[in-house]
Amino acid sequence: MLNREDTYRHLGMRKKLVAELRAKGIQDEKVLGAIGKIPRHLFIEESQFTAFVEKAYSDIAFPIGNDQTISHPFTVAFQTQMLEVNRGDVVLEIGTGCGYQTAVLYEIGAKIFSIERIRALHDRSKTLLSKLGYRARFFHGDGYKGLPLHAPFDKIVVTAGAPLVPKDLLQQLKINGKLIIPIGEGKTQIMNLFIRKNETQFSRQELGSFRFVPMLINKA
Ligand code: SAH
Repeated sequence: MLNREDTYRHLGMRKKLVAELRAKGIQDEKVLGAIGKIPRHLFIEESQFTAFVEKAYSDIAFPIGNDQTISHPFTVAFQTQMLEVNRGDVVLEIGTGCGYQTAVLYEIGAKIFSIERIRALHDRSKTLLSKLGYRARFFHGDGYKGLPLHAPFDKIVVTAGAPLVPKDLLQQLKINGKLIIPIGEGKTQIMNLFIRKNETQFSRQELGSFRFVPMLINKA
């Protein structure tokens, strides 16, 4: 049985990670506080645990099974910071993955709806997050369509590289709501921030180059 405890050593590693993220430009104390609290090493998949446990608090991505990766802590922090998530915000996350970003949003006090396309990841994250005490509503399905029944949202975060901006997601934003989404079909994508100005208008800002696994289109 692997030792999957959260210890003072892990806390020390998290403090270093927070300092590193601060040095890289993350200033939102709510985001840094969340990252300082969440045991990222417990999000590593069982079969990868031994290989990655020592690196869980480095600013790197690692595999979470099913050919997917957990995002770099900097990327999670950056997307969350740009959304300016506040306590009580209703947030839609596309790409639950291992649930680490979900945990960050929970620590900030958001009410979270999270969609994952791969059933195994959806099941695993749902179980893990409830065990760790992070509450969210998890959906297995296609993120391109969002969740019309639960819209509108204050914030939407897409954690996979999308070939285009899903129109349904823009339509599911509240007025003044924000969507952060990496766009591009190659190995890297451009981070885009959309803000809904009114029923029909959105502002758009490009925020630099990032690297994500692709957002998959459901052919079914
Ligand atoms: N937020 C995650 C990052 C996971 S990587 C974390 O913190 O670990 C991106 C995830 O998006 C993958 O799990 C992938 O399966 C999922 N994904 C890709 N295309 C999708 C789609 N169309 N709808 C929902 N999820 C999708």
